[in-house]
Amino acid sequence: MKRFGTLGWLVLSSGIVAGCPRGETGSATPATVDWRDRTLPVEARVRGFLDEFVPQRAALDRDANLASWAATNASSEEESAREYARKAELELAWRRLHADRERFAALQEFRESESLTDPLLRRQVELLYLTFLPNQIPDELMRRITDLSNEIEQTFNAHRAQFEGAEVSDNDLRKILQTETDSNRRRAAWEALKQIGPVVADRVRELARLRNQAAQAVGYPDYWQMMMAAQELPPDEVLALFDQVHEQTEEPYSTEKAQLDATLAERYGVTVGGLRPWHCADPFCQSAPQATDVDLDRYFANPDPEAPDGSNLVALAEKFYAGFGMDVAPILARSDLYERPFKEQHAYCTDIDRAGDVRMLLNLKSNSDWADTILHELGHAVYFVYTDQTELPYLLREMHTMSTEAIAELMGGMTKNARWLQELVGVPPEEAETVAAATQLEARLQKLIFARWSLVMLHFERALYADPEQDLDTLWWDLVERYQKVTRPEGRSAPDWATKIHVATVPVYYHNYLMGEMMAAQILEAVAREVYGGAPVEEVIFYGKPEAGRFLIDRIFRRGHVVRWDDLIVEATGEPLGPRAFVEQLR
Ligand SMILES: [Zn+2]
Repeated sequence: MKRFGTLGWLVLSSGIVAGCPRGETGSATPATVDWRDRTLPVEARVRGFLDEFVPQRAALDRDANLASWAATNASSEEESAREYARKAELELAWRRLHADRERFAALQEFRESESLTDPLLRRQVELLYLTFLPNQIPDELMRRITDLSNEIEQTFNAHRAQFEGAEVSDNDLRKILQTETDSNRRRAAWEALKQIGPVVADRVRELARLRNQAAQAVGYPDYWQMMMAAQELPPDEVLALFDQVHEQTEEPYSTEKAQLDATLAERYGVTVGGLRPWHCADPFCQSAPQATDVDLDRYFANPDPEAPDGSNLVALAEKFYAGFGMDVAPILARSDLYERPFKEQHAYCTDIDRAGDVRMLLNLKSNSDWADTILHELGHAVYFVYTDQTELPYLLREMHTMSTEAIAELMGGMTKNARWLQELVGVPPEEAETVAAATQLEARLQKLIFARWSLVMLHFERALYADPEQDLDTLWWDLVERYQKVTRPEGRSAPDWATKIHVATVPVYYHNYLMGEMMAAQILEAVAREVYGGAPVEEVIFYGKPEAGRFLIDRIFRRGHVVRWDDLIVEATGEPLGPRAFVEQLR
């Protein structure tokens, strides 16, 4: 998913990514082997376990994914309410399947057994163990956590801020932050965007306490530590990696921010010292404001005024992906592409059955943002499709969130590449230089700003679960000032941390985006080296290079979840994950 948009892919990926029993375990053993029988060899017991479990899991995956698809695609209020209720029930059933004590104990035993040597069986056991781990919660506690999280999400959905004497949507207020030049009105809009904070803060804090109880029940000090373990992310390594990002972006961020601040101060008629969060382009200062006069949208305008808004982007995406050997027409045909009443307003991609039923939900408009989004979601889609086409066991036909976000970012990012714009949307040669300078500046700013914002999210979530009782209001602004270098409003005392919906509904997840961007930078470098004969990374546009498509398929997609994310990155790019390539590409 797009991190600025919906939570669709996030929610689905919290375990539920797909489903269908095709060659479940890669095993020929009949399902009659009793995995409970300790007199049998471990390998036979594991096969028996998987033969029994995987069809149940696959059926629930598929049903839950279809319910999600129906809920987000409703065409009436009744249908929407009915499908959301069904989705919630299926998600609870899915969690309960992974809460089974006896099965969890068996997985622990299999995992520790030295006589289990088959690497694919070991990997399936490991991934299942990690999926069972956060679900080892008493049923009553699981209910309370699920209900509270859903309740907070619904409060966010239903909330309308008060602004200038009327109720307004978040989109209206965000629009003001993008376009308004009057500083006082910007401030009022920003403050309105923070009205949700006090409404949900106590419940978000309570949710953190409940999640900690769940983590402590399986021996972790807190929920953050447990969720990092469940994602195979060693906390110390991730913290060290983010410290490196902090250090290595310090100089470029300070330089770019000084220039940007000067531009913003002039635009809004304030001094640089008078800039506050409401002078940012969004409520969290996580994205770059428009920094040049170049209007990219006009290159994505629909040439046919009779055709549906955004339909030109479908043709563009198909042409682009075909240009490196990937036929996305079947994916597009299964997808829901255009706006409709009651439909979810953002974008996501889902693998319904791990057998090729991959779909996207989009709300296309003929502009640059949606061009980025359709290529981004198709990046997730082709990853799913090529993983599904392998002979891998069902449980390995998936991938780490970080890897799929890396591919999606790589593809969406092409819409900011000057050469891509010339070849795919026909930017005229006489405009090419201006456009190239503008897109490069925008891409660089975007990456820097997002990297610094990611530091805030990582450190805030870690601290929240380490001690949910602390003064979170002050902590939040301390982190914002330290990492984003955005000055807090004088005398502000409010739970602004609670206004970021991810903290409540997609916990301990956000770090995957920045790690995905670092991985994307390394993949780009590897493709430049191995497919483009060592050309500069700006030359890599995939289009016209089927070998670049093969690189992605063979080195990444077809590996599914056979190896851990860190080994996959070394295999694919020859180097462990680090900020070097990411930082170099900021120059
Ligand atoms: Zn995504």
